[in-house]
Amino acid sequence: MIDSVSIVRCEDYDFSSVAGAIQKAISFFGGIEAFINLGDKVLLKPNLLSASPPDSAIVTHPTIVEVLGKMVRRAGGSVIIADSPGAGIPYTVNALQKVYKTTGYDKLAQDNTFLLNFDTTWSLIANPRGKLIKYLEVINPVINCSKIINLPKFKTHTFTIFSGAVKNMFGIVPGFVKPSYHARLQNVSQFSEMLLDLLVLIKPILNVMDAVIGLEGDGPGALGKVRKINLIMVSPNPILLDVVACQIAGIDIEAVPFLVAAKKQGLIPNEIEILGGNLEEFKLTNFQKPKTYDPKGFGLKPTIQKLIAPIVKNLFSLKPIVLKSKCRACANCVKSCPTKAIKIVNKKAKINYRECIRCYCCIESCPEAAVISKLSPYAKFVQRRGVSGFFKTDIG
Ligand code: SF4
Ligand code: SF4
Repeated sequence: MIDSVSIVRCEDYDFSSVAGAIQKAISFFGGIEAFINLGDKVLLKPNLLSASPPDSAIVTHPTIVEVLGKMVRRAGGSVIIADSPGAGIPYTVNALQKVYKTTGYDKLAQDNTFLLNFDTTWSLIANPRGKLIKYLEVINPVINCSKIINLPKFKTHTFTIFSGAVKNMFGIVPGFVKPSYHARLQNVSQFSEMLLDLLVLIKPILNVMDAVIGLEGDGPGALGKVRKINLIMVSPNPILLDVVACQIAGIDIEAVPFLVAAKKQGLIPNEIEILGGNLEEFKLTNFQKPKTYDPKGFGLKPTIQKLIAPIVKNLFSLKPIVLKSKCRACANCVKSCPTKAIKIVNKKAKINYRECIRCYCCIESCPEAAVISKLSPYAKFVQRRGVSGFFKTDIG
């Protein structure tokens, strides 16, 4: 059962459809009672990337959270819902209020059945078993609960290619600390190891993926395209859940840096048992990958990369571009940029490309979809001739 992922069809977000699908998907693992004991303080960790409505497919749908919360309550646990939204959004009470309101989560707390988190304190926690990161900053509700249920969204991601259960746990790192990880870990392999280290420190007991609608193309924010997937996916193991989700999307796991890192660490078995059907029947056709996707792998060896990365970065990786006509100078991108490469000049965001490490936090954090990514003309030329990926940095 440990190496298993369950998959159940779910056509819409009606409460009864979602409840039926989630109950069935968890029943393969013994039901919610196999995970929750009387008196457990359970933290539900959705994807609340930004203040976006549920039908944008950017955030975990509130009905998923409501169903899980009620199941936990029936099993004898109490429920708190907590996340620190994406890069550029401060981890403050005001920001959380705005996110809860726009995503529809505020209604979940109306009858006091569940608690929405407003504790914006955080702590630095020692992680001696971490392979790369020995100390991690995490929000305090995570420390104060007894169990975590991870509720990721099925989305593409321009930096990590797929944003599922593993990447969702990065949300327990508080607001403005997130961009500093991009600055410290400029190589996506290192960033991936950090994600795995985070799972060593804080491991969810169960992962329930909202794949009723998801994002394809240039997710995980406003540039992604909504795609009906009609699935609920469950596993106690977040890494295996992401492997199977990628297989459904037609994403090669060799192109997903944190899954490559997990494979290197021996965390992906040769076979993953699928419960609830045959994997083939769930596979999507023509799922649009992010522009950064390269099935041949995602990077050069570190030594070579160190020598040529600065040149290659400009020639071959996607460049974030500010569309001046859409920019309204809100400065979200300025706050989210880990290398301080963005300034507001003449009421428009301006990027200093020498400082830019192509982490795409600005794309993720822009509420106006005013930051897009573009390949250089030279990279387009090379891609047309089928040698893309030969010169490719980890950063892009
Ligand atoms: S590019 Fe987007 S996030 Fe940056 S200032 Fe303009 S509107 Fe705000
Ligand atoms: S300007 Fe570059 S470094 Fe800054 S957030 Fe955007 S992609 Fe990342």
